[in-house]
Amino acid sequence: AAARTPLMAGNWKMNLDHHQATHLVQKLAWTLKDAKHDYAAVEVAVMVPFTDLRSVQTLVDADKLELGYGAQDVSAHTDGAYTGEISPVMLAKLGCRYVVVGHSERRQYHGEDDALVAAKARSAFGQGIVPIVCVGEGLDIRKEGRQVEYTLAQVEGSLAGLTAEQAAQVVVAYEPVWAIGTGEVATPEDAQEVCEAIRGKLREMFTPEIADAVRVLYGGSVKSGNIAAIMAKPDVDGALVGGASLDAEEFAKIVRYQS
Ligand code: PEP
Repeated sequence: AAARTPLMAGNWKMNLDHHQATHLVQKLAWTLKDAKHDYAAVEVAVMVPFTDLRSVQTLVDADKLELGYGAQDVSAHTDGAYTGEISPVMLAKLGCRYVVVGHSERRQYHGEDDALVAAKARSAFGQGIVPIVCVGEGLDIRKEGRQVEYTLAQVEGSLAGLTAEQAAQVVVAYEPVWAIGTGEVATPEDAQEVCEAIRGKLREMFTPEIADAVRVLYGGSVKSGNIAAIMAKPDVDGALVGGASLDAEEFAKIVRYQS
């Protein structure tokens, strides 16, 4: 894990009004500045609603913040007759470093499958935006003990068609669906089991060097109280944080692995 810079990404989902959003990003930046956070040691990014991106860009640019930001979804197309979609070209112009693709909420409520997730990941890379590709099993699969095979099949489908250069930069987020927003956190051992298997799959799909370079995040009810034990696992390179990223002080603690 030595060569991989951990990434702590906050996923705000469909929360906060515009004033709260701009306040949160500033408060997070100030809190991390007060703590003398070293962004080169642990990268930090926030995944915000589309309607907040322009303002977040302005704040980040004005203060030359090292905080990264991005969107929570992207179109598989670059332009055209796709009413309601947001293209990667638009996101790139807004300075997005990352975009979440294939979040379980989009898979579940919007019928996104692995092929579409892979198309979105390629679409993001086409404009220089790094996709954070989400995978993870539901409770039924976990109860059957099939979490590894299920998640690896998602990895295979959701990274299909990436070039070697893209694969080396992609971020994979392992988010067991039963642990998202439920307060039910996977044990560090559960997280390690699947994250390690994901890295094995990347070795098989691409090369050992690529597998070693890819950051595999854990997501699911991460809080300041459980982050240190999760980050101690060798194949976990950061976290995708939902609820706890809406509080600047709590998220700053998570970024710094502090309880
Ligand atoms: C998420 O939405 O990616 C997530 C992990 O949510 P939470 O931290 O709230 O479980």
